[in-house]
Amino acid sequence: MHRPYNFSAGPAAIPEEVLRQAAAEMLDWHGSGMGVMEMSHRGREFISIYEQAEADLRELLAVPPQFKILFMQGGGLAENAIVPLNLSRGGALDFVVTGGWSQKSQQEARKYASVRIAASGEASGFTTLPDPATWQLDPQAAYVHACTNETIHGVEFQRLPDLKALGSDAPLVIDFSSHVASRPVDWSRVGLAFAGAQKNLGPAGLTLVVVREDLLGHALPACPSAFDYKTVADNQSMYNTPPTYAIYIAGLVFQWLKRQTDGALAGIAAMEARNIAKAKLLYGFIDGSQLYVNKVAPDCRSRMNVPFFLRDESRNDAFLAGAKARGLLQLKGHKSVGGMRASIYNALPLAGVQALVDYMREFEQHHA
Ligand code: PMP
Repeated sequence: MHRPYNFSAGPAAIPEEVLRQAAAEMLDWHGSGMGVMEMSHRGREFISIYEQAEADLRELLAVPPQFKILFMQGGGLAENAIVPLNLSRGGALDFVVTGGWSQKSQQEARKYASVRIAASGEASGFTTLPDPATWQLDPQAAYVHACTNETIHGVEFQRLPDLKALGSDAPLVIDFSSHVASRPVDWSRVGLAFAGAQKNLGPAGLTLVVVREDLLGHALPACPSAFDYKTVADNQSMYNTPPTYAIYIAGLVFQWLKRQTDGALAGIAAMEARNIAKAKLLYGFIDGSQLYVNKVAPDCRSRMNVPFFLRDESRNDAFLAGAKARGLLQLKGHKSVGGMRASIYNALPLAGVQALVDYMREFEQHHA
């Protein structure tokens, strides 16, 4: 018997192998006599866990040497303040608003800097992404912010914009919380990327920041020291006590990712191939059905978060109850959008998407 399939948008499913290993090591990590939660972050044992996790992530995501990897706390919403505190230098910022999360980001940044909306998908109800060729970029902007996968609205950039080609020298800041490690990243187009861990990396409480070195060292005086990227980088993310257990679990997830293969592909490339297959199966079924609908333009659809609606919304509760009874959990849509949402992150296997599609077909036939 397998565990139920968990479609939560986050905190989300963790690979079962990781949970089993963590359980086995809970009381005694590698003969140290200590559980990981009980270790000093400055001790030899935890430092080895930390260094392995960082090296594995750098390898998996092919992070170039001129980027620092920071393990912080505060989640995506704290980064909405921490990024402008570090990168705005008192200047103006450009935001591309493509859904609920980039909307929140631009609102928060207004506390620290002057904000312009360079492009917005709002007129389409966030069902399409504004074409980068139409973005109104300010050549003086300190950075351009985009959320590359909108968890609530289910839109995803299939390629990162090339700001240089659009006439801007500003660094691109991406919130990649909900698709980190699901596909490769073109770092040549990125200045800073941040992600809360609780979707594809591990437990809530850990925040990943990948930042180009030349962007460090310009924090506003009011920036809390524990959130000054340079201070964090200079102290190997141990200026303050880092979220040690979350880093350990993320490290196990990174090792799990490294073990994944798909034909000749391995690691993130294997995950990407699997994620493409999962998304194709689910969207293909929805598009061919009479009962379900996804409103996102096909070329903007997220591989990770699939919002969908029943054309007859009076059946929503029956749909969710039947899903739960079949071990298909947490399919209720975000309150701001309604309907359903299937989050199909790395840890959710193709068999889980197949089980969902089988149930959706059965439900449709039953209620025809
Ligand atoms: N950005 C994105 C894309 C998200 O999906 C989320 C959480 N769902 C956040 C930011 C906010 O993250 P947190 O709750 O960890 O602050």
